[in-house]
Formats: sequence, structure tokens, C-alpha cells
Amino acid sequence: MADTKIEKVCVIGAGTMGAGIAAQVANAGVPVLLLDILPKDGDNRNAVAEGAVKKMLKTDPAPFMSKSAARLVETGNIEDHLDKVAECDWVVEAIIERLDIKQSLYEKLEKVRKPGTAVSSNTSTIPLAQLTDGRSDEFKQDFLITHFFNPPRYMRLIEIVAGPQSDAGTVAMVRDFVDRKMGKTVVDAEDSPGFIANRIGTFWIQQAVNAAFDQGLSVEEADEIAGRPMGVPKTGVFGLVDLVGIDLMPHLMESLTSTLPKDDPYQKIARTEPIVEAMIKEGYTGRKGLGGFYRMNKDGGKRVKEAKDLKSGEYRAAARPGIVRGPAQKDLKALISAKGKVGDYAWAILGPTLSYAASIVPEATKTVVGVDDAMKLGYNWKAGPFEMIDKIGAAHLVERLKADGLPVSSILEQVGDKSFYRVENGKRQFFGTDGEYHDVERPEGVLLLEDIKLSAEPLLKNGSAALWDVGDGVVALEFTGKMNALDEAVMKLIQQAIPLVKKDYKALVVYNEGSNFSAGANLGLAIFAMNIAAWSEVEKQVKTGQDAYKALKYAPFPVVSAPFGLALGGGCEILLHSDAIQAHAETYTGLVETGVGIIPGWGGCGEMLSRWMANPRHPKGPMPAVSKAFELISTATVAKSAHEAKEHGFLRKDDQVTMNRDRLLYDAKQRALALVDGYEAPEKPEYRLPGPAGKAALKLAVDSFRKQGKATPHDETVASELAHVLTGGDTDVTELVTEDHMLKLERESFMRLARNPKSQARVEHMLETGKPLRN
Ligand code: NAD
Repeated sequence: MADTKIEKVCVIGAGTMGAGIAAQVANAGVPVLLLDILPKDGDNRNAVAEGAVKKMLKTDPAPFMSKSAARLVETGNIEDHLDKVAECDWVVEAIIERLDIKQSLYEKLEKVRKPGTAVSSNTSTIPLAQLTDGRSDEFKQDFLITHFFNPPRYMRLIEIVAGPQSDAGTVAMVRDFVDRKMGKTVVDAEDSPGFIANRIGTFWIQQAVNAAFDQGLSVEEADEIAGRPMGVPKTGVFGLVDLVGIDLMPHLMESLTSTLPKDDPYQKIARTEPIVEAMIKEGYTGRKGLGGFYRMNKDGGKRVKEAKDLKSGEYRAAARPGIVRGPAQKDLKALISAKGKVGDYAWAILGPTLSYAASIVPEATKTVVGVDDAMKLGYNWKAGPFEMIDKIGAAHLVERLKADGLPVSSILEQVGDKSFYRVENGKRQFFGTDGEYHDVERPEGVLLLEDIKLSAEPLLKNGSAALWDVGDGVVALEFTGKMNALDEAVMKLIQQAIPLVKKDYKALVVYNEGSNFSAGANLGLAIFAMNIAAWSEVEKQVKTGQDAYKALKYAPFPVVSAPFGLALGGGCEILLHSDAIQAHAETYTGLVETGVGIIPGWGGCGEMLSRWMANPRHPKGPMPAVSKAFELISTATVAKSAHEAKEHGFLRKDDQVTMNRDRLLYDAKQRALALVDGYEAPEKPEYRLPGPAGKAALKLAVDSFRKQGKATPHDETVASELAHVLTGGDTDVTELVTEDHMLKLERESFMRLARNPKSQARVEHMLETGKPLRN
């Protein structure tokens, strides 16, 4: 494993990609120099790069994970500051896509960089051989292509192309940095046009647009078929093009048609519809323009979604066709075999696209795994093309391709009636171009539950959770319910796990591989109990959760939580009860219960107080911590990254962040193991709290929000209960409040709110719409 020697990075070109790449370097905690050209006018010679950083600070979703990350970006211009490249270990070029301009920049870079400094281009289309033409051998050894996807913080894919002269050590150094520090999954690509993801993605989009016009489908019909049922994001194709910019399509087309061989199947399908040309000309370039294939229009004060009629070119109210029914909604083979326009359209896209994808191995990347990873991580497909082929059946696909006169590549012929993936001796294997199966290798430091499950049975399991042996004496607690919602079954499993771990294992990590860590308690169950006024049942749910989380907290072994994605409500409270947190950088956590008219009921109130009381940088005394916890919980604050979660105190200062999602379980396991020696469960806290005097102070603050129209009447009720708990109820600073008493206060306030019809209305509204009700 290469030791990451990259301590400072220079990004040249502060446009969409360069700025975003620089932000992600900064998110990794590494200083970065961002350079661009001189501005057309004005005295500030750094205005272009500075402007890019300023703009990013206002962009949503945010390119920076925290304000402090933004401070790691130093801005400059290529006329005055290029010599600073000598301070950097890696230079990323992300300037305009023009060979001559890129080449002339490299010529200058060659003079200023120190030997061994890696130089990479973010080019989407220009072959590496052309980029380095005319450069010295030393430069060629340190040069590679690092193709990031937009937006660089959020898209997990990076395609790396090494040239024939690239030095293996330099490539390994960059690879290691983008993987561990920037959190990207590397897919090795060959030096071929469009590399992997854009090559297939562009073909797929083109084919879908062509077929919609040829078969006379509406954009809504097309997107319904070529969206969720195909396992691609629900935007479908027209929605996706709106998102990335319709004006980008002709550029992509031009660059691919000019670089791909004349007999490449893409050449035959590349075309632009007159309607689309007109849209671009008139500024209808998608979401960033006046509108796209869809737009939101104001009609009598109401926002209405409209869609473009592909025949007339006029906008009309968007429809929900509902034409994909039955098995075709979930089963790819059923989808392409469906009668009528659903099957016709699905096949018109997937037949040629899968045939094409199967034809670019090994020319664009050596294995089918590279193709699948590229599409899953670069285009957010649920399954890659070869995984889709397995679903359809390779033999069946080949039969249909032949019947339609579509190309059948050699790897498709070779695989015959077998599949591209199989599990053998507990290992996932893929079908290679040599006709043999090979293990899918994971990089060192990547551990996935998905792999463990191939050869193991859970230690414990029920309808909402499972417990797995993840090796070296560590077990993982996995949530498995719908959307990883937390319920009594999860709490039961926690209670069962504790004696088991105590007896036979060393530590426990809380981890799963769903789309989100957990969005909190199962509200459906809660509202069911509320509706039938089963109050003792509701109270039991609260108590059971409190008991399970405290049992976890005081278990005689280390507990490490490894959140990612949403970790809300009860999903946040379990973090607060852990000895340590190893968070994925993209963790969005918060105590959001007030949004549904209740307060944290599984010990979150006391734990949040403890965090702020223990914060050495926070003012001493009870009131500052109480105010801070009150502010965070009453406003349902959600941290928008793991770094922000530290600032809000959901994570402790010494909690750690993993940038690469695939490395989370491994890192959490190492963290847990590091805590094993001499582990002692935490001591029970006692709180010194301000009591009614503090509650009155918090009430004043809420009153003023209410007067400013920032709080609703029911917000006030909820806030008052929260203030009651956080200030310790009927106490004062001369007394000590026990943790058990805090839990009792929490339960009582929770129950009063649960019985309140306005809280129930909030829960129901959230279940129905997914949005908070402001009553
Ligand atoms: P952009 O137009 O947003 O930004 C390009 C930047 O380069 C501008 O800020 C421009 O001022 C600057 N620039 C131009 N000439 C320069 C020079 N000589 N020295 C320094 N800076 C210079 O472009 P972009 O979309 O960020 O693309 C940049 C590169 O990334 C291109 O090679 C593109 O093919 C590639 N790429 C783009 C995307 C995407 O989705 N936009 C995705 C992957 C790769």
C-alpha cells in the first residue's frame, strides 16, 4: 500500500469541476491551492478563483462539508502563482476542454513542478497520449487522468487512466489519496474515448431520447418506463437531461462522434431533434435555464409541474401515466417483455444499451466489474449493465439481440447460458474475458456486510435487526426493517446481543448497508398505538427504547456506531449512547422529534446535555449547555455532514470520520478494537440543572420567536416540555439530578405530548407527506 504522501494539492481551473474538486480536497482536511486565469476586468487578479469559492459557500447541496474546510482553500491565478505548484504533491488540471490550452498549461507546469509531483487531468474526452504529447519522459511518468463526476463531493465514482509511461508509484499515490481522503471509488479505465460511464451513459440517454420520439411517447411515459423500473433514478432520462443541462447533450455527442471509431454503434444513433435544438437556442436548457422537458410554472399562485409536448413543443400540465404495472415494475425481464409501448420502449433502450455495454470490455475497462461499478457510482444505477443482463438472463438477451440484428459481443457469446456473477465458496465471482470466473477483489481496508453474508448466518435475527460476526471478536448490529426504522424488535435484539457479546466477543459496532443508517423510530407503529389510545403501549415503547440504549451504553464492552446518510431521531440517539462514533463523512444527523410534535424519548435529551457539558470549548455552568441542547433539539437541527455534526456536538471531538463509504465498517471495527484493552463502561452522570428559573429563561426565548412568527402555538407547547426536561424539572443548581430521573422526565413529557392531538396530527402528516406540519 502506497503511503499517502500528498500533503498539499493544487487545482487549476476553478469552474464547475475544479472548484468542486478543490472543495473535496479541503473536506479531507488537506490544504489546496485553487488557481484560474486573470479576470477580464477589475483589479483583483484572483477574482475568478475567489468568486468560485464564494459561490460554493452559497451552493446547495453544499460542496463544502463545513465552513472550516473552506478556509483550507487558498486562491490565486496562473500568472502570479504558478510557481507555488512547487509546494504541492499533486496538481489537478480541470480547465476548459481544449487540447491546445491544456498542452500549453502542461508546458508551463513542467517548469515549475518539483520532480515526483503528480499531474492529472480531469478531461472527459481527450486521450492521455494527446495530452502528454511533447512533454518530457519525467512528466509523462508522473501524469495520469483522474476523471471525477459532477458534483465531486457527492458522486462516488472516479475513473483513473494511467498511460503506458505512468509511474506505478505515482498512480498508487493519487489512487490512495482519492480513495481514502476524498472518499471516491476508483475504477480503472483504459485510454479510450469517453472512458466508461459517460460512454455508456451517453449512449443510453441518446437511445432513450431517440426511441421516445420514434415511438411517439410523452416525456412522462418515457421517464416512467426508463426510471425506477429499470433501476435508474426516478428522474428517468428526460428528467436527468434537465438536471445536467440540455445544452450539454450536443457537446457530448460531438466529442464522442469525433473521437469514437467510425464503426462504433454510437455513431449510428447520434442525432439531435429539431425541438431540442430550438429549446437550447431559446434558453430552455433545463433546470438552470428557463425550463426543460419539465418546468415548474406558477398558475394562479400555485406551482404546477408542466411537461413539454414532444410533438407540438408546447408546455402542458404534467401527467402521471401509470402505465408500468404488475411484474414489469420490478422485474427487468418482465419489463422488456411487456406487451405494448411499455415493453417496446424498455427494449428499445435496454437491448441496444446492454449490447453496447457488453462490447466495451476489455477495450474501455478490463472487467465487467469496472463497467458495473462505473454505472452504479457515476450514474446512480441500482444495478450495472452486466448485473442487469444476469437478471434478464444472458442467453435470453442474446436470443433477442440476434432476432433484432443487434451486435452480440464476444463476452456475451462466451458467457452463454451462464451468468456474469456467481457466488462460489462464499465469494462473489465475475466472468472474465478469459472465460473463467475470478473473485471480486476488495481493496485492503474495505469490509462489507454484503460480503460477509455470502458465507455466514446471523448470530441473532428478527424482523427488524440482525447481529453478525464481523471477525476479530467484533459483532455488528444491523437494522433490517423497512427504511431501517427502529422498533421494539430492534430493542429486543440489543438486549439479547449484550450477554452474547459479553460472553464470546470483544466489541460491538452498530452498522448497516441500507440507503440510510436510520431515519428513526417507526412512526407508523407509534401512530397506530396513539390512534387506539393504547397509552400504556406507547409508554412501553418509550421505556423499552430507553432501557435498551442505556444497556448498550453501560455494556461491559466497547460500542462504536458507524452512521452514514440519515441518522435521525432514534437513529441519532443510538449514536449518543455509543462509546465512540466512526461516521461516514456524508452523515446527516439530528434530533428531529419536535418536527412530529414530540421530544427525544430514548435518552437523547440527557445525552445531548452531557455532550455539551463535557465540551471543553463551551462556557462552564449549567445554563450554556442547557441552552445549546434546547436550541438544537427545539429547532430539529440536522447536521449536513459528519464535520458539521461535530460542531453541533452530536459527535465528540475525538470521534472519527471515514471519507470512503466502503471503508466504514473496517474503520469502525478498528476503532472498537482499539477501545477493548482496559475498557470500562462510562460512569452514570449526575446533572446540575437550573430548574424552573432556567425554564423561564428558555420560555422567554420561545416567546420572542413566537412574536416574530418563527414559532407556531404548538411549537411553543413542545418547546415548553423540552425546556422542562432539559432544565431538570423541579430542581435547582444546588441539587444533583440522576440519569434515571432525567429519563423519567423525558418519558413524562413525551407522553403528555403523545396524547396531544396536535402532535398526533404532526405524526400523521409526516407519514402521509414526508414533511413536517407547522400547526
Ligand atoms: P468550466 O467551464 O466550468 O470551467 C473551466 C475553468 O477553467 C474556468 O473557470 C476557466 O476560467 C478556467 N480556465 C480556462 N483556461 C484556463 C487556463 N489556461 N488556466 C487556468 N484556468 C483556465 O468547465 P468544467 O465543467 O469544470 O470542466 C473542466 C474540465 O473537467 C474539462 O476538462 C471537462 O471536460 C472536465 N469534466 C467536466 C465535467 C462536468 O460535468 N462539467 C465532468 C467531468 C469532467
